[in-house]
Order: sequence, then structure tokens, then C-alpha cells
Amino acid sequence: MPYASSGFVIKHDLENEYALVDLGNAPDVSLEEQLKGWGISLENISLVALTHLHSDHAPPAGIRTITESADCPILLSQTGWEHQGDERVVEMKSLLEKSGRMELLDSAGEMECGNWSVSWRPLTHAVTGQPVFGGNTAFRINTVIVSGDGPIWELFTEDNKPFFIQLREIRSGPWL
Ligand SMILES: [Zn+2]
Repeated sequence: MPYASSGFVIKHDLENEYALVDLGNAPDVSLEEQLKGWGISLENISLVALTHLHSDHAPPAGIRTITESADCPILLSQTGWEHQGDERVVEMKSLLEKSGRMELLDSAGEMECGNWSVSWRPLTHAVTGQPVFGGNTAFRINTVIVSGDGPIWELFTEDNKPFFIQLREIRSGPWL
């Protein structure tokens, strides 16, 4: 379910848990209020995945909320991390680092994270004015694919077949 621009909430099918992909960008409504509107409290957030650190996807206020109030792993690609550098990002980076819960990812991979099955792939995005492959990350979290920014067609390559094949396997698994 989308909860604001540039952010999504994914409900786990079996557990009372939610994953966030990006943190939305609603200037007058806090992340906590947005979630409350869906009947979700921060305690039920068990995973956060950031596609990249542009402030419409990872606004400082949302990062502050997540790092201070939620108790969950925060996933972000190493490339996305390295290719950000404006002033607002410096503040966000320090909050993320201090949280001790950030996990920097290789550009592509997969992992089990608590009750979540997570896979990710790089997409091109202009993060500091220049297009960078891996500047944005597409995530597959259980059965949902969210790409953030970046051309989704870049996912449809031979190398990325497992990304979709695994999705089919998961869909026929315990989630349905
Ligand atoms: Zn962006």
C-alpha cells in the first residue's frame, strides 16, 4: 500500500509485521502519522529498505523517526551510499550510521531478514547530477517489487532472471 509519495508499506501475509520501502515525502504529515492512518505503529515495522537517499524518498524527518523509534534493520546499497553527498544527506548519513542498524548491500543479492525474503538489483539513477548504475536499488520483498527511481526496464535482463523466477517460486509458496 502506498502511504505517501515515494514510499510503500508492505504487509507480511502471515505476521503482524510491515516493511517500508522508502519513507515518503509528505511535508505536513509525519511518517508516524501516515502509518497511523493505516493502523500501523512503528513497533510493527520490522524492515526498512531505502532505494536511494534523495530526500523525496528518504527525508531527514523520516530517517530520524526510523533511526530513533523503530527497531529494525535498514537496508541500503553501498553504491547508493557512496554516491550521495549534499548537505542534507550528510545529516541523514550520520543518523543512519549512529543507528547501528544500517546494512550496506552489494549492488545485487538476496538475503533472509527476519521473516522477510529480500532480493535487490541495481538501477541507474542520477544521484549527484550524473547517472550512476546502482544509484537506485530495486527491492523484491517477499512478493512485492518496488523500484524507487530509475528505469524499471533495466531489470529485464538475462542476469536478472533469478530475480523474477524466485518471485514465481515464492508466490507458489507459503505466502499464498
Ligand atoms: Zn531520486
